[in-house]
Amino acid sequence: MTPRRVLIGTNNLHKAAEVRKILADYTIVTPKALGITLEVEETGSTFAENAILKARAFCNASGMITIADDSGLEVDALDGAPGVHSHRYSPDPNATDADRRAWLIHNLQGKEMPWTARFRCAVAICFPENPAAEVVYGTLEGEVIDQDRGNGGFGYDAIFLVPERGLTLAEMSDEQKNEISHRGRAIEKIRPILRAYFKD
Ligand code: IMP
Repeated sequence: MTPRRVLIGTNNLHKAAEVRKILADYTIVTPKALGITLEVEETGSTFAENAILKARAFCNASGMITIADDSGLEVDALDGAPGVHSHRYSPDPNATDADRRAWLIHNLQGKEMPWTARFRCAVAICFPENPAAEVVYGTLEGEVIDQDRGNGGFGYDAIFLVPERGLTLAEMSDEQKNEISHRGRAIEKIRPILRAYFKD
């Protein structure tokens, strides 16, 4: 049987850990484990374009079937910002996740609450044998709140409230987050593509 190994084209260990839990029935390999060091410039203007750039680059570097996600937070009161710039959303080039959360809250001061928002995720899958990529999407609606709640997750999780659950993503267990998250929902749509590829 073909080994069911899939490369996750990211240097973000939080994302890799989430994908590993969601696709627990596959062997998820990181670039680091293969000794691949690659910083892919995210020059696309959409999540899908950036996801394809990353998946293709890591696929070419490894010769392995590769998935890569591009994701971010869209806040309605900021006309969809930070969007594709979520990772770089701060004037400080050395900003931490906590700095980016604080900068977002700062920019929302004076805007009417609730600060409705959504996480979006595009996941691209690339095959070594085929230049085309496939892309799937997932979304999670919620609200940005004005202070951190919870210690789990990463990025903007501590200020992203899921109103139906009464919890921020950082207050959820990994399983709870993955079940409803933008990334969890997108990656579930990758499953049939992987099954067809591995002829499971
Ligand atoms: P990129 O996809 O590497 O460009 O980074 C996306 C950025 O969006 C991350 O660095 C986080 O700041 C934010 N982000 C994406 N997904 C999540 C999530 O699940 N929780 C919290 N923040 C996220």
